Amino acid sequence: NKLNVALIFGGKSGEHEVSLASSASIYTHIDKSKYNIFTIGITKDGRWMYYEGNEENIRNGEWVNLANKNVEINLVPVGNKEVGIVFEDGRLEKIDVLFPVLHGPYGEDGTIQGLFEISQIPYVGCGVLSSSVGMDKLICKKVFTQIGLPQVDYTDTHKSVFNKYTQEELNKIEEKLNYPIFVKPANLGSSVGISKANNREELLSGINEALKFDARIVLEQGIDAREIEVAVLGNNEVKASIAGEIKPAKDFYDYEDKYINGSSTYDIPANINEIDMENIRKMAIEAFKSIDGKGLSRVDFFIDKNSGEIFINEINTLPGFTNISMYPKMWEATGLSYSSLIDSLIQLALDTKK
Ligand code: ADP
Ligand code: MG
Ligand code: MG
Repeated sequence: NKLNVALIFGGKSGEHEVSLASSASIYTHIDKSKYNIFTIGITKDGRWMYYEGNEENIRNGEWVNLANKNVEINLVPVGNKEVGIVFEDGRLEKIDVLFPVLHGPYGEDGTIQGLFEISQIPYVGCGVLSSSVGMDKLICKKVFTQIGLPQVDYTDTHKSVFNKYTQEELNKIEEKLNYPIFVKPANLGSSVGISKANNREELLSGINEALKFDARIVLEQGIDAREIEVAVLGNNEVKASIAGEIKPAKDFYDYEDKYINGSSTYDIPANINEIDMENIRKMAIEAFKSIDGKGLSRVDFFIDKNSGEIFINEINTLPGFTNISMYPKMWEATGLSYSSLIDSLIQLALDTKK
């Protein structure tokens, strides 16, 4: 009567390695007396493989060479075949809950959630709509604007337009925003493809760099910001953790800082006044509800160091779950241990099917 939980990791995105680290961490903390864990890896070129093994080989990527390619992973009901994992000896293991521990495109953007819907198996986290809206920085900003959440000034450009009218587009951006300007591909996370431009030359090279990742580019007013994050958990009744603050070691919180050397430090709770704390927690829940969030999200804010103004930065529907990640840490500080958090996420997934 243990639940069968399939942890899905890796994936075809620039955040593949982050996912490996997140999954290894979840694999370590999940209560194995309650769940049978089936680990399914997705390679960088998008192949799904069953890998039954240890945390370390998930983390370091060795699992690709050790995976059992003969185990079938059936998520779509075909003919009279059952949905589940079919082992070489013909044994079928049904899956009670799918747990995607994937970040970025194909994992966090609603595509895999669509496949899960078709499989009819409950899954952890946001559904198709909230995942895709949350992943798209441009659409998400428009939703947040609509519900009146404060954001820094921004504009956008598109590859087809930018490549044709480069000078005009640069002029237009400079008219709307002052340097420094943050350049972001619309559809990524983990700071991949993001840069901070201090002048026109850097703006041009930043946009060209971002265009390698997406045709749609977001340009934002850069501010001197404190970075505040809140963990959100729930379906219809949504709770927000106490907020934490990230203190990036460098100019901004980049990929390396987040996952490689982890040189940034943090405060949980964030050292902010009570009014800001309550306001930020309230806005985090509003943001989550505005995109029809389910399960979990981490909502990130800026506090302008000069004016004290609060801005919402973004919502991450599948936040990092590594040993140094804020999402589990903020819940821990709010009184929910890592393994109880995983229990809650699994329960919330089952609840969506009730
Ligand atoms: P990602 O989804 O990749 O985490 P973010 O939008 O959070 O993208 O940007 C990554 C980091 O870049 C932020 O954590 C922050 O350090 C910095 N940053 C992004 N936008 C701004 C901005 N408008 N002003 C100041 N810093 C920013
Ligand atoms: Mg993000
Ligand atoms: Mg971010």
